[in-house]
This record gives sequence, structure tokens and C-alpha cells, in this order.
Amino acid sequence: MGTARLTDSYGRVIHDLRVSVTDRCNYKCVYCRTGEEGPQYPDLAIDDYLRMIRLFVGLGITKVRLTGGEPLLRRGLIDLVRELGGLRTLTGEPLDLALTTNGHLLDSLAGPLKSAGLNRVTVSMDAVDERTFERITRVSGSFRAVLGGIRAARAAGLTPVKINCVLLRGFNDDQVEAFARFARQEEVIVRFIEFMPLEEGRLWSPEIVVPLREIVERIGRVLTLRELPPNEASETARRYTFADGAGEIGIIAPVTQAFCGACSRVRLTSDGKIRTCLFSQVEHDLYGRMRAGSTDAELQQYIYRTVQQKEARHHIGEPGFLKPSRSMVHIGG
Ligand code: SAM
Repeated sequence: MGTARLTDSYGRVIHDLRVSVTDRCNYKCVYCRTGEEGPQYPDLAIDDYLRMIRLFVGLGITKVRLTGGEPLLRRGLIDLVRELGGLRTLTGEPLDLALTTNGHLLDSLAGPLKSAGLNRVTVSMDAVDERTFERITRVSGSFRAVLGGIRAARAAGLTPVKINCVLLRGFNDDQVEAFARFARQEEVIVRFIEFMPLEEGRLWSPEIVVPLREIVERIGRVLTLRELPPNEASETARRYTFADGAGEIGIIAPVTQAFCGACSRVRLTSDGKIRTCLFSQVEHDLYGRMRAGSTDAELQQYIYRTVQQKEARHHIGEPGFLKPSRSMVHIGG
């Protein structure tokens, strides 16, 4: 397909692929999972993910983020990272290779992942207070494990380490100021994310979302913030540093300040379906076509056509909003 860039029908260049390698997870975060449902979709062979990712890279994807479920549970992950490390973009560069994890198993895996070619990790962490954290994850010992994982990631050079924190009013919004200090102490970038209606149960309401404006105001009361310019046009986070320039926090506000106009992403679920938006009502069965014997060229045509169907934007909070059939843990966050 030449070196044409993958562009959707709104002119957005799609260069970012998120791949879920399993929908199993070892945490049961209260705002994400009911605690009663396990994995719902099959994992594919590592070679199948590799072939599909290769097809996307051949169409112009430059950044691949592995996720789940919990990707560190996935056997063969290091091999997959090593193979991806060998791929080149259309302009001959290595891929930008990142991983999103809950960090529970990162202490021992950070070094091997870095050696295999991973560039960066994002660790999800919703409280810096041990008891609050373990109330959220519903796993005892999780706080120490994750803290150890974050430190191991920094030591291994999987930097900058980003920490993603989903804030929910009445659950963990008392952690905002402590997280700002944590960012400076641990030399990590903490990013607060507005809660989206993607949970397994029914918890979401506009009132439970802690909006960007409120987070900035609250941190600003204890530490002076200075807004930073975006790194790239499709940057999802509004970035801030502190008065002395040491440390960074970010706020990702898909609900109150949606960034769909600059979206550069597509997703591949653990069972090989393409999702063009977190809130898509339809999925596109790439793996099914692959298993049925389509050639690489046919599959790339299919990806190209699918990307043309990417939604203009999501409709969170609007009348008639429909929650997608899969929740975040089964899509790949
Ligand atoms: N297990 C990995 C992890 O913990 O990062 C990857 C999967 S997890 C579903 C990815 C991210 O989605 C986590 O940061 C989690 O907090 C976030 N998440 C889950 N449900 C969410 C929701 N309803 N709104 C916003 N973020 C959500």
C-alpha cells in the first residue's frame, strides 16, 4: 500500500495502536470490575498479535501500546516485545513501544522488558495511601508491589514513568494533593484521568467525575502550577509543571474537555477485533479474516476501510449515549 499515511474520513492521521494481549486481570478495581466476572474473550497466540501489528505498522502506525486486562499476566509478552522491537515504521524508525500495567508484577519484569526493547511504561495507581489503594484494587499487598514496580521501572530506564490515576468523587479524590507531591518525590509524571462510563457495573454519573478544572484548582492551592505546551497535536493530557520546574503532572479530561478532534488511535482487542473508538458500538473482526485465510494485502485493505469508519467523537453525557458492549478491562485501556 505504498507509504501513504493511515488517515480517517475526517482527515485525522492514525498512528497510534493499542493492543490488548489478554482481558484477564489480577486486580478487581472497584470502579472497573464488579469482582464477579472473569475474562470474557479468548487470548490469541503471540504470533497472531505480531502479524496483525505488523500489518498496522505497514500502514503507518508508529506507536504501539500493549495493554489488557493485565498485560504482565500474558505468557510470551517478552518475546512479543522483542519482535516488536525489531519492526520499523514506514520511515525506517523503531516503533515507539509502550505498555500500560497495574504494576503488580513489574518489579521482576521491568528489566527483561527494557532489555527486550520496551521504551516506556504507564502504571495505573489510584491512591498513594496504602489502605485506600488496597480498598480500590481489592488485593492485599498490592500497594507495596506497585511501588516496587514503579521504582524498578525507573531503575531499568523505562522512562519517563507515567502514573495514571482515575479520580472518583468520594472514593479517592482526597489523594489529589498527595499525588502531586508523589510525582516530585518519585520523579514520575502523574496524570489524573476523568472517569468514563466504561465500567462493568453501573457506577458512572456526571457527579462522580472530578473535572479537570477542579483538579487544577486544588493542586494550585498547595503548589503553584505552570501549564506546559503539548508535546504533539494528539497529546491527550493537559500538562503542568510546578513553580520550580521540577516534576510534571497531567490531566486527561475525555469527559469535560474531549479531545476526539485530535484522536490518532485505533485499538485491537485481545480476541483480534479492531475498535475505532473506546465508545464504538461496532467491532471489526480482523482476526476472523486472518484465520479464514485472507492475505496480508487483503487484511491491510480491510484495516484501511475500517479506519474510514472511525467515529467523529464520543457522546458521553449526551442524551441517547449508549455504553459500549465491552467495558474498559475487556477493550484494553
Ligand atoms: N491492567 C492494566 C492497568 O491497570 O493499567 C491495563 C488495563 S486497565 C483497564 C487500563 C486503565 O484503564 C487503567 O489506568 C484504569 O484505571 C483505566 N480505567 C478503567 N476503567 C476506567 C474508566 N471507566 N474510566 C477511565 N479509566 C478507566
